[in-house]
Amino acid sequence: PGMDVYAVAGNPISHSKSPAIHKRFAEQSNQKMYYGRLQPELGEFKTAAQAFFSAGGKGMNVTVPFKLDAQALADVLTPRAQLAGAVNTLRIEDGKIFGDNTDGAGLVRDLLAQGLQIQGSRILLLGAGGASRGVLGPLLEQSPQKLIIANRSNAKTDELVRLFSDLAVSLDVVLQAVTLGDLEDASKIASPFDLIINATAAGLSNESPISDTAASNIFTPQSFAYDMVYGKVTTLMQQALHRGARVSDGLGMLVEQAADAFLIWRGVQFSDAIDSRAVLAELRTS
Ligand code: NDP
Repeated sequence: PGMDVYAVAGNPISHSKSPAIHKRFAEQSNQKMYYGRLQPELGEFKTAAQAFFSAGGKGMNVTVPFKLDAQALADVLTPRAQLAGAVNTLRIEDGKIFGDNTDGAGLVRDLLAQGLQIQGSRILLLGAGGASRGVLGPLLEQSPQKLIIANRSNAKTDELVRLFSDLAVSLDVVLQAVTLGDLEDASKIASPFDLIINATAAGLSNESPISDTAASNIFTPQSFAYDMVYGKVTTLMQQALHRGARVSDGLGMLVEQAADAFLIWRGVQFSDAIDSRAVLAELRTS
């Protein structure tokens, strides 16, 4: 008996802000818990996670590159984790490991908290990797008018459209795939977008996934550009700012997905006690 122990697992993990975020949630809700970092070697996630839970660990957040390993490890998946094809939150109960995915819900809550109207909007989602797949379901559930997915090549976007077409049809959302190159041809994209989400990894290396020609077709002063990368004004955000659009980095998404993980572990009765927007503001000034 002692403090409940949690951790975030990734590789690399030393720069993760998750321990600081969960420490603040625990303080806000007057709970004692310990939240640390784990850096398994590539290929060692399963062994590390099993050792963590055998030693009494209660829950784990999972980040790059282990979200698929976490999905494989879980005994039970929530429907949204199944749809996302990835797990970012694990918890153990009666010896069973449950896998969930809070990334998409975190993104949607951050967008809504920033005053964005998602319902009826035209969304462009850049990238077709794990992050895109994780947010597609929750975005569609907000009933945008249309959602276009763009990636360098067609293979992954076609796969995503196939996976999510039933959900899109049931919600009356137009779901289509294009290539990043198509965005340079205004006649191929029909209209500007209200919300552009960068879920490519391009921002990490200070590149934008789109050319300036494409940026001129996509951004207007009415659009909102969201980059999942956080901690800097990315090249894509600069392209959007130049054209008068509003921008945001992905720090709010990180905090909001953490808030959902915290409540999954500790209980929804604490939802009024934790103030994720205050934690986000603290992170921005620290
Ligand atoms: P993946 O490796 O699964 O996918 C990467 C995607 O980016 C692919 O679609 C890939 O395209 C594309 N890509 C990579 N480099 C470029 C480039 N130079 N130009 C155009 N496209 C490029 O990564 P994830 O989906 O897991 O993560 C994507 C980003 O989202 C990361 O930066 C990650 O840090 C961030 N993220 C942030 C979160 C938050 O809480 N704020 C949560 C989750 C992720 P292709 O298929 O052609 O290779």
